[in-house]
Amino acid sequence: MENIMMESSAEFIDDRVDEFISRSKELGIKVTPQRVAIYKELASTDQHPSTETIYNKIRDYYPNISLTTVYRTLETFEKLGLISVVNVLYNAARYDANLTPHHHIVCTSCKKVEDIYDESLANLDVPDKTLGDYKIEGYSLLLNGVCRDCRD
Ligand SMILES: [Zn+2]
Ligand SMILES: [Zn+2]
Repeated sequence: MENIMMESSAEFIDDRVDEFISRSKELGIKVTPQRVAIYKELASTDQHPSTETIYNKIRDYYPNISLTTVYRTLETFEKLGLISVVNVLYNAARYDANLTPHHHIVCTSCKKVEDIYDESLANLDVPDKTLGDYKIEGYSLLLNGVCRDCRD
């Protein structure tokens, strides 16, 4: 399995933030410093953080922010398609600022979520009878496993 690391230099993060700001303006949502900070926190990592993880980081510079605010903000971003949610089936949603189509692998032990990029997963042949009445627009795979750190 090939795992291409995404670039996460300061410049790359700034580009993501700039794009976020212009998309937000297009969508007519307010671009507050707090919202930018929340987005930037997510855009700075490929760890697919949970709401709580983002909240704990944001509190360093917005000590009065509530978990609910962070939660609602991420939910709003997700509804607008500015970020995506990785549903890891462990009741806490994990978020992703990376909107390039990709798949995920989750460690069932430490709950780490990693990205998978693999061309061969781009054309999954699903039988029509499985799809029923659906017209499929896309998919992302979520693989479960135990990472090396947890196996050692
Ligand atoms: Zn692990
Ligand atoms: Zn991802």
